[in-house]
Amino acid sequence: MNAFSFVNPTRILFGEGMVDKLGEQVQAQGARTVLLVYGGGSIKKSGLYDRVLTQLEQAGARAVELPGVEPNPRVTTVRKGIELARAEGVDLILAVGGGSVLDAAKAVAVGVPYEGDVWDFMMRKAEIKSALPLGTVLTLSATGSEMNGNSVITNWEENLKKSFGSIHAYPKFSILDPTLTYSVPRDQTVNGIVDTMSHVFEQYFSPTQDTPLQERFCEGVLQTVIENGEKALAKPDDYTSRANLMLSSTFALNGGLISVGMQNDWATHMIEHEVSAIYDIAHAAGLAILFPNWMKYVYSERIDRFVQYAVRVWNVDPSGKSDEEVALAGIQATRDYFTRIGAPARLADLGIGEKDIDRMAKETVRFGPVGGFKQLNEEDVKAILRLSL
Ligand code: NAP
Ligand code: FE
Repeated sequence: MNAFSFVNPTRILFGEGMVDKLGEQVQAQGARTVLLVYGGGSIKKSGLYDRVLTQLEQAGARAVELPGVEPNPRVTTVRKGIELARAEGVDLILAVGGGSVLDAAKAVAVGVPYEGDVWDFMMRKAEIKSALPLGTVLTLSATGSEMNGNSVITNWEENLKKSFGSIHAYPKFSILDPTLTYSVPRDQTVNGIVDTMSHVFEQYFSPTQDTPLQERFCEGVLQTVIENGEKALAKPDDYTSRANLMLSSTFALNGGLISVGMQNDWATHMIEHEVSAIYDIAHAAGLAILFPNWMKYVYSERIDRFVQYAVRVWNVDPSGKSDEEVALAGIQATRDYFTRIGAPARLADLGIGEKDIDRMAKETVRFGPVGGFKQLNEEDVKAILRLSL
């Protein structure tokens, strides 16, 4: 186990009815003018928008709105939010939606006090030194953005999708009411399952030795998602499975709680971002295609971890099998589960061919080789993309 320092400053309010605590949280932040950030309208359809406005009114806060945040949120929308927040003297950002809305709100929060262009943070040209306070009401279990300091933003003009992570970008509070996810459409529920599992994979497949507790945390999250994912798909308004998915996705990526002291990987996320940057596909659709192929490409680096994964997570019976057979059975079980819940398996399923592979590979390694389990260079990334065609 490596030495580590861990902090997570986000207050979580979890459970049915917790939206009624929003006003108290806004007041606790001393907020007078709130920038309400949301997406394409799902919160209006569900009635959440009205509930949020009532809470803000009760807290004595004025609301200014940034609607229309896109899935794969655009830097142009973020810039609009920054200008609006400055012009209106906003002192709290409130994101109500899925990961895209939360990520855009985070980028606005760090962009307001910064003199340069917010895109500098994604291109690693500037360091984040401060942010406006941010609160969130989550409506989709997937990204963990509600309890981490990460944000992924798309620059559509340049076909780039880049991220930043900062302690300043953690939400002050996040309201997690599983009933708000009942209306998430089937394909987005599938995406949330795949994204959550992928976040665990990025941490669990690690070169670090002697981390039994962290490995079991990771395996526990994976098993919980696998079991509850299919239940939520069968019955979208089942409180228990929606609550378990919500807690799992939040714990899967909240500053590394489940993998403290472990070297992480993150190569597959970096590759996927460059696929989304050109083709505007859902993040998790890309992950579902890429992850089992990444696994096939790297498993021999540390076969014991892949054997453990197969046996503990997928109940593969190792008797009479070689390590390689067991490891490959675990990878196949991953692919089979993704297929069973309806996730895509090939880039061709999304109409993506060979055309942009070189460009995507080059951009993936813009800041150097990627991956902590196996370091991947441009040629490795091309090979994984080709395996995924
Ligand atoms: P999303 O892009 O936020 O939302 C997808 C769709 O689901 C939107 O059309 C949204 O509609 C709809 N939706 C959300 N909640 C709903 C509800 N309760 N009922 C009905 N429809 C609902 O999806 P996401 O998977 O949460 O976020 C994906 C983004 O996060 C990607 O850009 C990805 O790269 C990024 N990401 C971030 C992190 C991180 O740590 N920050 C980690 C992984 C991925 P409306 O727009 O109408 O609300
Ligand atoms: Fe992700």
